[in-house]
Amino acid sequence: MIKGVHIVPMGMANAFLIEGDDGFTLIDAGYPGKAVALFAAVRGLGHSPDRLKHLIFTHGHPDHIGSGAAIVRETGARTYMHPLDIPIAESGGPFRPLKAAPGLLRRVLCKLFFHPDERVEPVAIDRPLTAGEILPIAGGIEVIHTPGHCAGQVALLWHARRMLFAGDVCSNIMGLGDPLGFESLEEGRDSQRKLADLSFDAAGFGHGGPIVRNPSTRFRNKWGKKPTFRIE
Ligand SMILES: [Zn+2]
Ligand SMILES: [Zn+2]
Repeated sequence: MIKGVHIVPMGMANAFLIEGDDGFTLIDAGYPGKAVALFAAVRGLGHSPDRLKHLIFTHGHPDHIGSGAAIVRETGARTYMHPLDIPIAESGGPFRPLKAAPGLLRRVLCKLFFHPDERVEPVAIDRPLTAGEILPIAGGIEVIHTPGHCAGQVALLWHARRMLFAGDVCSNIMGLGDPLGFESLEEGRDSQRKLADLSFDAAGFGHGGPIVRNPSTRFRNKWGKKPTFRIE
């Protein structure tokens, strides 16, 4: 797909493994019980799990932090998260409630897959993320605060490969669209528009396949400002 990044399926959620000169970075940690999938992926690349140096969470939901504690135990990776979700990760739940996104499919899936009273193993966060900062990891990873689905949701723009990791700001299940639910639909739309303003060559999602062809255009068509025509 994109040189230097590997998708690791961890249940019905994706994690992304980035190869840097300085070691590996993982974006998100999937559902509980999926750490072995990550270790297998790292070994498959010819390294031992302690090659993983950084673990960046896009937000504090069970399907993104579930295997975080198990991964840190084995690798000693440094953990990163937006401050608004840190208390959730460090308690392992409960989670803030979500309202299903518009549409029948997402209403059904949200009920099926999101349970706010779920508990996962707590994972300690070493380093709070700041909106707008560029982490000096793998050639620069920019932190974009994108609340709506989750207050502490961030999207990550990896400068070296111009790849966007959208987390659950949107999904790519049966096409580019909404996540299953929102804490605030209005904020979620603002965040989707914010991503549509960016320029990138590939996009990865918490759920659904990546987009490697004209992702910026697809985002703009979906959520970007519509051109205004003036009749003179
Ligand atoms: Zn989520
Ligand atoms: Zn998710």
